[in-house]
Amino acid sequence: VTKPLTDLEIAYNAEMKPISEIARNAHIPEDALEQYGRYKGKIDPAKIPGEPKGKVVLVTATNPTPAGEGKTTVTIGLSDALKQLNQKVMVALREPSLGPVFGIKGGATGGGYAQVLPMEEINLHFNGDFHAITTANNLISAIIDNHIHQGNELNIDPRRIIWKRVLDMNDRALRKVVVGLGGPTQGIPREDGFDITVASEIMAVFCLATSLEDLKERLSNILIGYTYDRKPVFVRDLGIEGALTLILKEAFKPNIVQTIEGTPALIHGGPFANIAHGCNSIIATQTARKLADIVVTEAGFGADLGAEKFMDIKARKGGFHPDAVVIVTTIRALKMHGGVEKSELTKENVSALLKGISNLERHVQTVRNFGIEPIVAVNRFITDTEDEIQALLNWAKTKNVRIARTNVWEEGGKGGIDLAKHVLEVLNEPKQFAPLYDLSDSIEQKITTIVQKVYGGAGVVFADQAKKQLKQIEENGWSNLPICMAKTQYSLSDHPKLLGCPQGFTITVREIIPKLGAGFLVCLTGEIMTMPGLPKAPAALKMDVDEKGNAVGLF
Ligand code: ADP
Ligand code: MG
Repeated sequence: VTKPLTDLEIAYNAEMKPISEIARNAHIPEDALEQYGRYKGKIDPAKIPGEPKGKVVLVTATNPTPAGEGKTTVTIGLSDALKQLNQKVMVALREPSLGPVFGIKGGATGGGYAQVLPMEEINLHFNGDFHAITTANNLISAIIDNHIHQGNELNIDPRRIIWKRVLDMNDRALRKVVVGLGGPTQGIPREDGFDITVASEIMAVFCLATSLEDLKERLSNILIGYTYDRKPVFVRDLGIEGALTLILKEAFKPNIVQTIEGTPALIHGGPFANIAHGCNSIIATQTARKLADIVVTEAGFGADLGAEKFMDIKARKGGFHPDAVVIVTTIRALKMHGGVEKSELTKENVSALLKGISNLERHVQTVRNFGIEPIVAVNRFITDTEDEIQALLNWAKTKNVRIARTNVWEEGGKGGIDLAKHVLEVLNEPKQFAPLYDLSDSIEQKITTIVQKVYGGAGVVFADQAKKQLKQIEENGWSNLPICMAKTQYSLSDHPKLLGCPQGFTITVREIIPKLGAGFLVCLTGEIMTMPGLPKAPAALKMDVDEKGNAVGLF
């Protein structure tokens, strides 16, 4: 038996077309393409004519196991399959964060024969976007500390600053820090902390802005903290929304690359779905909808996180909705939800599988709650047995759930033809999409709706800190915003070990943080951290560069 090729080896073996050719095939005007080397580019959305009319296919999943279940892989493979069926299609994905690249999760460019290229350049500081977002975030911090040092005209209370510094790295030691130590010339000491760049409100603003003007407006509305007399302080009070927009203006243009099969892909913006809203930028999705008839996009983690936020936050703000939703699942994930240990997942176990289907069933119901009939994609792993797959297909038949076997990791687009045919059918069916809650509902009501209709839980409990913040938010008149839940991705509940479909649980909201630039309220639940840590053996230990200058051991 020969060793299967790694994702990196498959990517290096694939032949890329010049990005100018990919852009030309996608009918992107020549003057809209800005090349970043031979195989990457940015496109200027202002130079793309027409209206955003393309249909949106959203790819989501069951609750992931630590390995990831293959949403990005299926998103790319499905697009290649649609292209094989002669559809005008584009992929719209998030940009990878460096934190998980060096940690445990791996990259975000797909896998096997369903990848976007050049994978190592997309995974490592792709076209400088995250650098720009990090810099914009930290300019706000620097300006705040300088403002206080220079006399604090705005009367900012250093103990009530909610704006944190960021870094694109998993670095738990920076979660809580003290800045300004060292005497009078080093600033005023205060407690601060670092988040990972993907959790920055700048990232959310970047992904939800519909134009450069809208970007500036949203940046100016960011709440950074409160004065000694508890009055809110905004970025506009600091007068730096212009400088921030300047830092971000090139990054704000969507990046274009290609899949292994030459399908155009826009990869832009990258908030995580557990601690942020989990979708690529609205500007990239809308640009893709101008250029293609079908846009296939991914929202992070399970449908309880990314998909819910896609529908209730992104789609609502962007003024569009998904026309089809694919729920990716795997036999091994369902077995894990059915109680099987990680080390036993490669052994056939139909009864555990049948038990674990409860998790899939919950997500099917969630998507139906939004008025859309989902398609389940069974992402095939070589360890799956025919009996296991048949058991899943039988379940789908009895429950009237659309399902497609998908083998894009091994076969590329060809392995996604069945799924693509289902998608085309659903795209042509009428649907009644609606977000789950109204913005005018109370905050408590909005969260309760998410807990009951998406997580399948009983209700919500607020910790003392959250109760205080809730009152303050209501007094300031900020209740009319959508909710961005920060919750573990592993469970439908706020407890990562509760797999399957837990019943009767409550969700505890620890803190509610107003993100007035992004335009949502972040609710922190469970132990979820906005700065991840590294595992005992980080992926970084396996990486190298060979004598030819090629990446080794990336994934
Ligand atoms: P997600 O987007 O859901 O996090 P990815 O598509 O990034 O998941 O896949 C996670 C990892 O699993 C990748 O390294 C990918 O190569 C691998 N993978 C995905 N599908 C398969 C499959 N069918 N067989 C083997 N490995 C797979
Ligand atoms: Mg992914």
